Amino acid sequence: MDFRLTDEQVARRKEIYKVCEELDKKKPKSWLGFESPFDNEEGWAFHRYCAKEFAKRGWLALSWPKEYGGTGTMMDKVLLAEARGYYDLPGSDIFGISMLAPTLIAAGSEELKKEFLPKIANAEIMFCELWSEPNAGSDLAALTASAIKKGDEFIVNGQKTWNTGAHYADWAFGVYKSDPNAKKHHNLTFILCDMKSKGITVKGIPYMNGAHVYNEVYLDDVHMPAKYVVGQENEGWAVVNVLAGFERSNIDMVMGLVRGVEDLVKFCNENKRDGKPLAHDPMIRNKIADLAASVEAVRTLAYRVADQQNRNEMGLMDAAAVKIFASELLEKFGQISTDILGPYGQVKQSKFAKLNGTAEYNYQACFVPIVSMGTNEIQRNIIAWYGLGLPRMK
Ligand SMILES: Cc1cc2nc3c(=O)[nH]c(=O)nc-3n(C[C@H](O)[C@H](O)[C@H](O)COP(=O)(O)OP(=O)(O)OC[C@H]3O[C@@H](n4cnc5c(N)ncnc54)[C@H](O)[C@@H]3O)c2cc1C
Repeated sequence: MDFRLTDEQVARRKEIYKVCEELDKKKPKSWLGFESPFDNEEGWAFHRYCAKEFAKRGWLALSWPKEYGGTGTMMDKVLLAEARGYYDLPGSDIFGISMLAPTLIAAGSEELKKEFLPKIANAEIMFCELWSEPNAGSDLAALTASAIKKGDEFIVNGQKTWNTGAHYADWAFGVYKSDPNAKKHHNLTFILCDMKSKGITVKGIPYMNGAHVYNEVYLDDVHMPAKYVVGQENEGWAVVNVLAGFERSNIDMVMGLVRGVEDLVKFCNENKRDGKPLAHDPMIRNKIADLAASVEAVRTLAYRVADQQNRNEMGLMDAAAVKIFASELLEKFGQISTDILGPYGQVKQSKFAKLNGTAEYNYQACFVPIVSMGTNEIQRNIIAWYGLGLPRMK
């Protein structure tokens, strides 16, 4: 692929960075990082505010086809992700913008596209994902929450778990067992539902750092209109796979590392240990250089993914590889920055906190992408089976 930006893209990038720089000044004091939108009212309000600012410029639909409001390409979406990452800004609903919208474009009916794409592009509604269950994570197809069809709706019962942001989301996309007698992978239906529907109870799962980001969701005789089925009834597994590809290849989460490395370098130039600047320590220099090289590699990967998605050539193996590389880089960054900051890396929101307490926060949050979106062990299996043709082991 050609890595050079067009003149139009250069101009757009300049405009995007300018808007993000202004939004950065409005960030609430409680803001700590990529999961802050879900942690408190202030974070959520800022997420929605940024989303509206991007929406009014048409930036939430950048990569969509023109007939659905698209105003650019996948590459423009990457430029926005880079700028948001640099300023650590929210404003792009990971579930609505990065996962559901491209899935609807690829596999949804015209009615669903017409109803949901404008609301997503205008930041009117935000989504959450109701997939995992207490006994169905890696083996998602073993899920038991049921959706029984009655007339023109499904009656849904069961429990979902680990649902990020479900306590704030307006809508959810979920997958349910709709035919108890059909074969595995042909018995699931993918349905959108209003989170205000009667019978939905959301209960927080306390996270080890004290944040409320994740939830359990209980579904008790919830009526979901059949018109909100994506794809075919009982063939929701195919839709799950399309969405999972977009979920795993979404590299927005690592875009903040460019700034993260810059901040670490600054910290090492300005702080001393045993009378010597940290930047003189060969071990530290080595670690930062290693990080910087990986960040450059992930940026190149992001451009490649954008190029592949523009041509609808994102395969299962590519998405799995991106997910592994990006999540393990985040983990490495969390570990290295905490090591370099020493005891200061263990506090946040304290007078002793350095770099705004982000090292402590990142350290506790960095394992999340390794497990969520399908664990990295499962991603390695996908690469082995679909990418390399290795046999499945019992
Ligand atoms: C922080 C966080 C946020 C999440 N957000 C959401 C969300 O918003 N919505 C949602 O629906 N889900 C969400 N999830 C759920 C996530 O997708 C599951 O946790 C994940 O798929 C793993 O499932 P599990 O937790 O049931 O672990 P298990 O499937 O029980 O796996 C346990 C361990 O066994 C390994 N393992 C299992 N099977 C195999 C195999 N065949 N080969 C090799 N190793 C294997 C796994 O890799 C893992 O290490 C989230 C999870 C976390 C931790």
